[in-house]
Amino acid sequence: MHISPGVQEKLSRLGIRTEWDLILHLPIRYEDETHLFPIADAPAGQIVQVEGVIIHNEVVTRPRRQLVCQIEDGSGVLVMRYLNFYGSQIKTYAVGKRVRLLGEIRHGYHGMEMVHPKCRIVSVSEPLADTMTPVYPVTAGLPQKTLVKLIGQMLQNAGQTKMLTETVPDTVIKHYQLAGFSASVINLHHPAPDVSIGSLQNRTHPSWRRIKFDELLAQQLSMRLHYRQRRQCSAPVLAPKNQSAAKLLERLAFRLTAAQIRVFDEISRDLAAPYPMQRLLQGDVGSGKTIVAALAALQAIENGFQAAIMAPTEILAEQHFRKLSTWFDPLGIRTAWLSGSQKKKQKQEALDEISTGVAQMAVGTHALFQDQVLFQQLGLAIIDEQHRFGVQQRLALRMKGAQSEQVPHQLMMSATPIPRTLSMSYFADLDVSIIDELPPGRSPVVTKLIADNRRDEVIARIQQACSQGKQVYWVCPLIEESEVLQLQTAEATYANLTAEFPHLTVGLVHGRLSPQEKTEVMDLFKRGAIQLLVATTVIEVGVDVLNASLMVIENAERMGLSQLHQLRGRVGRGAEASICILLFQQPLSEVARQRLRIIFEHSDGFEIARQDLQLRGPGEFLGAKQSGVPMLRFADLEQDGDLLEAAQATANEMLDHYPELAQQHIDRWLGDKSQYLRV
Ligand code: ADP
Ligand code: MG
Repeated sequence: MHISPGVQEKLSRLGIRTEWDLILHLPIRYEDETHLFPIADAPAGQIVQVEGVIIHNEVVTRPRRQLVCQIEDGSGVLVMRYLNFYGSQIKTYAVGKRVRLLGEIRHGYHGMEMVHPKCRIVSVSEPLADTMTPVYPVTAGLPQKTLVKLIGQMLQNAGQTKMLTETVPDTVIKHYQLAGFSASVINLHHPAPDVSIGSLQNRTHPSWRRIKFDELLAQQLSMRLHYRQRRQCSAPVLAPKNQSAAKLLERLAFRLTAAQIRVFDEISRDLAAPYPMQRLLQGDVGSGKTIVAALAALQAIENGFQAAIMAPTEILAEQHFRKLSTWFDPLGIRTAWLSGSQKKKQKQEALDEISTGVAQMAVGTHALFQDQVLFQQLGLAIIDEQHRFGVQQRLALRMKGAQSEQVPHQLMMSATPIPRTLSMSYFADLDVSIIDELPPGRSPVVTKLIADNRRDEVIARIQQACSQGKQVYWVCPLIEESEVLQLQTAEATYANLTAEFPHLTVGLVHGRLSPQEKTEVMDLFKRGAIQLLVATTVIEVGVDVLNASLMVIENAERMGLSQLHQLRGRVGRGAEASICILLFQQPLSEVARQRLRIIFEHSDGFEIARQDLQLRGPGEFLGAKQSGVPMLRFADLEQDGDLLEAAQATANEMLDHYPELAQQHIDRWLGDKSQYLRV
């Protein structure tokens, strides 16, 4: 289709770059110009169309200048009023002209009236519209009329251009009782007069369901296709041997929960397959993912391969390193440690151990997937807190083993519980295991909301807790706009609290400390030498200090729900009853109020995540890091769960039996968009 560059530029402001975008530029509402009401019977308070002859035309000046006409249709008289008008309109709407008006009728002082109706001159017996009139989202300089025309042309040509051909197999359409694709698109742009406007508005009409189904299907198809393609790769077969695992489990101070056993079983089976595992292990904060990761690593190591675990922060990586060393050293398994800030010599040693295979286990931060890191034989890559890594970084570690023909297995772990529908949708290219049970013997964390002006109470509480030998976290306000300001705040808080508690040992940990410094502080805290630890949100992920049973979070109203949940998960790790105090500053915004209410009322991470998703929508919820995945425009995961299930089943069936249609469908929705609008 030929469109001028000026119009194209404006279209692109609406996100319309291709013919397909134009087709999917769906109306925000409709106007009913398919029938006429007699003026006398026209209902008030809704948009109606009437037609009549102008019997009076006058510009009045009081109370303000306006154009007032009277229209008569044999049943009654209606006043048409324009408060803003062009001089030309006075002439156009001359007495004797026949006009068709679309607008809302009100009962005014002078009887029935329409203010600023859509009005056009018509001839006697001018035909009515035979479909509803679409109203599209517009942008400055691109009037409704232009869009209606462009989209109308698009739809007319669709037969020739094959833009609306059916891509879903007949059997699927019958099975799910779906409406046809082209009929649905046409109907959404130009609904028949008898359509239920309500079902269009709330997007439950079969035409809407079809569009949403197709959108979900495209997402499922592309993700399942990726999944299948990766399955074509070969990976080392790592059969369970379980000797080291048994020894490790014997020595642990605890027994695995049923959920841990179940997820490890799922992982263990994947590892034994000749193609790479692509599994996401989800489990709430403190559900015990680390031991599961360790068992998985052992399975790789017992088969003569290496395993690697990558964590997003130095603190967390270091913590993993220590835990794994304590677990693995007695088994005669060497664990190497690699971090970005290591001294050159140590780093070289670690690199050597990894490349020669002396170290069977490697733990580290992002440093693990840099080019100079060569594994002798990487069998399993584990990524902790995967949502903290970008898609690219995860891919990089996956490819680490690719010196050989084989791709390593990959296990991703996340403590951000993801609601089921979201997970089915945006993680459809992964297998998912869920630890849905916390280890026994934990007492739940009591959450308290305290306004900033009652800080004294909090100070007293800290005093009391420390005198009983407990340890305390004090989390500084998050200042997203400025890292410098964030640091200053943390240092100021540290100074204040040191002054406030002359008898306590206060420590400070923040993101700008060198890794060594961080480790030293965390060590002192772990050993109980620091009683009150002032921290920025660097402690958000994974840090595990059992004796810490009180946490104060300052300016909690600034933090997101998952962040608050993660932070709160740092306490309540031992048997000691724990308290998390959320200090907030008034006045609270509405969203902040809702967030605090949710975190106060719920401790279950999945429930918190579900509500968070409702509050923010999937785009925000998943965060920019997941942006490799196309977001949904039409389908609503809460409302359209049934369609999602149908799309998932259909995607698998189409990839098995209708690969060509599947490809067509993917190209249509996500393809290279070759059909750019032409100048
Ligand atoms: P997360 O899932 O948040 O990574 P961790 O793996 O750090 O959780 O485990 C949290 C704490 O719970 C650790 O101290 C760990 O040793 C302990 N733990 C893990 N599994 C169990 C279990 N089955 N019983 C008791 N404690 C456990
Ligand atoms: Mg963890």
